[in-house]
Amino acid sequence: MKLLIVGKPGAGKGTQASMIDSYYHIPHISTGAIFREAINDKTELGVIAKSYIDKGNLVPDEITIGLVEERLLKDDCKHSFLLDGFPRNEAQAEALDEFLVKHNLKLDCVLNVDVPDDILIKRIVGRRVCSNCGETYNLTFNPPKRADLCDKCSGKLLHRSDDKEDTFKNRLFVYEENTAPLIEYYQNKGILKSINGDQPLDEVFGDIKDILSKLED
Ligand code: ADP
Ligand code: ADP
Ligand code: ZN
Repeated sequence: MKLLIVGKPGAGKGTQASMIDSYYHIPHISTGAIFREAINDKTELGVIAKSYIDKGNLVPDEITIGLVEERLLKDDCKHSFLLDGFPRNEAQAEALDEFLVKHNLKLDCVLNVDVPDDILIKRIVGRRVCSNCGETYNLTFNPPKRADLCDKCSGKLLHRSDDKEDTFKNRLFVYEENTAPLIEYYQNKGILKSINGDQPLDEVFGDIKDILSKLED
């Protein structure tokens, strides 16, 4: 299956994508996670990406599109992939369409995780991310077994530098301006499926499984 997962910052895209990856063995490609890894490793990409991410702005398309295309060309994406956080504007969506046509590929479904704004901020404040493997936790809604340590790899859990209230507000604004139009874009293609993301993790995942079970491989 070739899937996208879209939603506002904090909607639960990464969490659900990780559950989909574990259950269906579909490679989970998160542009945010790729950037955070580059920032951790202090690479050239990381330095550039950090200057945008810390303000809550989008990393320029010239950088982001090439990075995703390079990742999609790897062997593990031949039959399935799940893109999380890409595309985030119309230019990226059109670039992805061109890439898919060129490689004779087709998206099966775009999962839209829908959550009201007042819930998002509560999730963002308590979000903690593993500095080693990128797994996401929440101090209130999905706490790790040991304080500040990842259940999966014992890596240290960090609060993202862009999960501050001011930066979050800008990210919501950036979403409305750039990303929200993609809902209609994919609705018009007949592949958009919206899910109520304001439910416990497992119930959201249950709804996603219902949708994916109806898709053909
Ligand atoms: P969230 O969905 O919680 O906002 P992500 O991890 O998807 O977080 O993204 C974090 C940040 O990385 C974004 O605010 C943006 O600065 C950058 N980013 C991620 N994906 C893209 C993209 N497709 N295009 C441009 N910037 C991106
Ligand atoms: P996104 O990738 O869309 O920004 P995340 O998957 O990182 O969102 O989730 C944001 C925060 O909310 C994390 O701390 C995560 O543990 C928590 N979270 C995710 N889904 C739910 C849910 N259904 N109910 C409560 N908290 C959730
Ligand atoms: Zn970890």
